[in-house]
Amino acid sequence: MSVLPPGARLTPQRRAVLAAIGRTKGAAFTAAEIHKRARKEHRGLGLATTYRTLELLRETGGLHALRSVGTPSYVRCHPEHHHHLVCISCGSVEETELCAAPSPAVLERRYGFSPQAHEVEIYGTCRRCAA
Ligand SMILES: [Zn+2]
Ligand SMILES: [Zn+2]
Ligand SMILES: [Zn+2]
Repeated sequence: MSVLPPGARLTPQRRAVLAAIGRTKGAAFTAAEIHKRARKEHRGLGLATTYRTLELLRETGGLHALRSVGTPSYVRCHPEHHHHLVCISCGSVEETELCAAPSPAVLERRYGFSPQAHEVEIYGTCRRCAA
């Protein structure tokens, strides 16, 4: 379940957003879609509040923003290190623990660079769509 960062209040509006996200079952969604669904539970919910809540969740790692698929969209995430397999045909998103990023030690040695985080999205066709 997605969690808000410590100190962020769980208002009824935010609760409605969290509930809507909980029903996405791993499919990517846009802020507008979540807003529409969450408003069924909380009529007074604004799009700006929806955006802010999504951004809070992104900060805690509960959500991941997919940048390169047309409309900016989000997907629910697990806290463990993983990457995303994004289907360009149906939009489904699968998580993979496979990671081929260069090690921090190599980056330090070669570039004097201290990495903090990295993100990888792999685009292609999922099993269902390939069939
Ligand atoms: Zn994820
Ligand atoms: Zn697919
Ligand atoms: Zn990785």
